Amino acid sequence: MTQNAEQILTQISALADQLCVTIDDRFDFRLKADSDDDRMLKLVMMMNFLLERVRQNIGQLAEAKNELEERVKDRTSLLELIISGSNDGVWIWRLENNQFEVSERFASLMGLSINELKSPEHWFARVHPADEASLRVRLRQYLANAQGELAHQYRVLDKDQSYRWVVLRGALKRDDEGNPSLLAGTQSDITALVSVDAETGLPNESAFIDWIEQHSSGQSDFVLALCGIDHMGSLLEALEGQQLHHLRKEVRERILNTLPLNAFAAKMQGDVYAIAFKRNVVDLDQVFKALGRAFSAPIILGGYGAVQLSVSLGVLESTEARQKDSESCLSALWSALRKARETEGHTLTRFNDALRQERSRVLKVEANVRDALGQGRVKAFLQPIMNANTHKVAGFEALVRIRDVDGSMMSPADFIPVVETTDLIGPLTDQVLRQALFQLKQWRDLDLVEESLFVAVNLASRHILSGELPSIIAQALEDSGLPPSVLKLELTETVVVENMEAAVEQLQQLRSLGCRVAIDDFGTGYSSLQYLQTLPLDVLKLDRAFVQGIETSETTSAIARTICELANLLGLDVVAEGVETEAQAKLLASVGAGYLQGFYFARPEPMSAIELWLRERKSA
Ligand code: C2E
Ligand code: CA
Ligand code: CA
Repeated sequence: MTQNAEQILTQISALADQLCVTIDDRFDFRLKADSDDDRMLKLVMMMNFLLERVRQNIGQLAEAKNELEERVKDRTSLLELIISGSNDGVWIWRLENNQFEVSERFASLMGLSINELKSPEHWFARVHPADEASLRVRLRQYLANAQGELAHQYRVLDKDQSYRWVVLRGALKRDDEGNPSLLAGTQSDITALVSVDAETGLPNESAFIDWIEQHSSGQSDFVLALCGIDHMGSLLEALEGQQLHHLRKEVRERILNTLPLNAFAAKMQGDVYAIAFKRNVVDLDQVFKALGRAFSAPIILGGYGAVQLSVSLGVLESTEARQKDSESCLSALWSALRKARETEGHTLTRFNDALRQERSRVLKVEANVRDALGQGRVKAFLQPIMNANTHKVAGFEALVRIRDVDGSMMSPADFIPVVETTDLIGPLTDQVLRQALFQLKQWRDLDLVEESLFVAVNLASRHILSGELPSIIAQALEDSGLPPSVLKLELTETVVVENMEAAVEQLQQLRSLGCRVAIDDFGTGYSSLQYLQTLPLDVLKLDRAFVQGIETSETTSAIARTICELANLLGLDVVAEGVETEAQAKLLASVGAGYLQGFYFARPEPMSAIELWLRERKSA
C-alpha cells in the first residue's frame, strides 16, 4: 500500500512535469497515460479533456479577436467613407498642449493642406474678417461654459478666393479634474443651403451679396438691378392660394426666361428678383426691353380673370457700387426700385436718377413755397375746436394751405416735410401765425367771438430747435395787439422726445411768453405717459387713431379713457382730434376729453367761410 502510494506520487509528479510544458502555449499537448493504475488513467483522461477544452477556447478567442479586428477595420473605413462623403472636415484641438489637427477635408474647405493648418490661428486667418471675432467669442464662451453641442456658422476663404458658408460643430471632453482637455468636431460646407431660396430654389439675397462682393473687387464693369412687379401688394390681398401660387410662378418664369444665360438671378424678399450681369456680356437696355415684352401679355388666373402687370427696375452701376459696401448697394437698389415704382408703367430708375428725382422734387416744392410766400398764396385755414360738453366754439386750429397757380390747394403733408428743413419755415410759420392772430383780433373787435377763444398754431418739429421761434412769436403777438394767452402752440412728440433737453428749454421759453403749449398727435409716436410729467405742457391732443376706433374697439376706448384720466390728473386739457360722428363725440366727452375737433363739427375752411359759420351760430 505504501509502495502503491509512492508509485502514484511519482506518476503525479511526472504528470505535473508534462503539464508544465503547456505553459509555452502548446495547447495541442496531450498527457501520456501509461499507468497501470485505473485511477491514474482516469485522472489523465480528465486532464486531457480539460486541455482540449482550453485549446478549443483559445482557438475561439483568436477567431473572435480576428473578427473584432476586422470589424474595427470595417468601421474605420466606413467612418472615413462617411466623413469624406458627407463633405465634413474633422478637427481636434488638444487644449492641454494646444495641438491642432484637422482632416484633409477640413483643410481643403479653406483652400489649404493639412500641413498648413497646424494651429487654430491658421484657421482663424481664413475666416471672413466680419465673422472672425464672433467665432472666437463663441469658442471662448463654449470653453468657459460648455453646454450641449457647439454649433456656429461663419464664412471661410476657399482656394478660389471666394467665401463659403460653413457650420462648425463640436463637443468638449474634460480631464479627470473636470478641466477642458479636448475640443473636437466637424466643419461642413453649407454654402448651398445658406444661399438658396427655399421656395423657388433660386439663389437668395445672401448669394446676391456674395456676387456683389466678388465682382466689386474685379476689373470688369457690371450692372445690378432689382426687378419687381408694380402693385404686387394689392394683388396679394385680392388673390387666393392657388391663384397666388400660379401668379408667382408665371412672374418668375417670365423674368427668368427673359434673362440672358450668363446673367445671375436671385430671389429677394417681397416678390422681388435681383439681377446681376457683366456689362460687356449683356446690355441693360436689351434686358429692360425684353422684360417689357415679357409682361406685355396679361396673366390669366383661373377664377380671377386676366391681370396686366408692369415691371419696375431699380438699377445700380458698378461705378457706384464700387464706392459702397454690399449692404449700402442693396439699400441703394431698393431706393431706386421704390422710385421706379412711383412712376406708372414699365420703368427703369438708376440709383442716380432716383436721387436726382428726389432732389428735383424737393427743389420744385421749395421754389413753389418761396413763390407762394411772395405772392400771398399761403393761407391759414381754420378749424373750430369745440367744448365737449356745451358744443360751443372754444377756439380754432390754424392749418396751412398753399393755393397753387392753377387754383388747386396743396396739402401741408406735401410741403411741410420739405420746408421744415429749409430757411423757408420761419417765414411760413410767421405768415400762418399772423393771419390767425389778426383774424382773431378782428372777430374779437366785431364781437363775433368770446374773449376766452384761442387759436392754435402748428410748429414744425425741426424748427423748434432752431431757436428763432420765441422772437417770431413775440413779435407777431405784439403786432396783433392780443394777449399771449390766446395762443396755443402745437408740436408733435417725436422731436421733443428725441431732443428732450433742448426741447424742454424751448418749451419753457415759449411758455414764459405767456402762451400755452400742446402736444400733438398724442399716442402715435413714442406714446410714453412718462414724459407727460417731465414736459412743460398745457394741452394734450389725442390722435385721430384713438378717436376712430373708440366706437368699435374696447381696447381703444380703454386706452383713450386712461390717457384722458391721466392728462386730467396732471392738469392738462385734452383735445380729441378727428371726431367724425355724433357717437364719437358723446363717447369722448364721457371718457373725459374736454374739447373736440373734427369733421363732425366743421372742416378746416378759409377764414371767410368760418366767419359766415360764426355769424350763423351767433344768430341761431
Ligand atoms: P395736424 O396738426 O394733426 O392737423 C389735423 C389734421 O387732421 C389736418 O390735416 C385736418 O384737416 C385733419 N382733420 C381734422 N379733422 C378731421 C376729421 O374729422 N377727420 C379726418 N380724417 N381728418 C381731420 P391737414 O390740414 O392736412 O394737416 C396735416 C398736418 O400738416 C397737420 O396735422 C400738421 O402736422 C401739419 N400742418 C398743418 N398746418 C401746418 C402749419 O401751419 N405749420 C406746420 N409746421 N405744420 C402744419
Ligand atoms: Ca395740429
Ligand atoms: Ca394732430
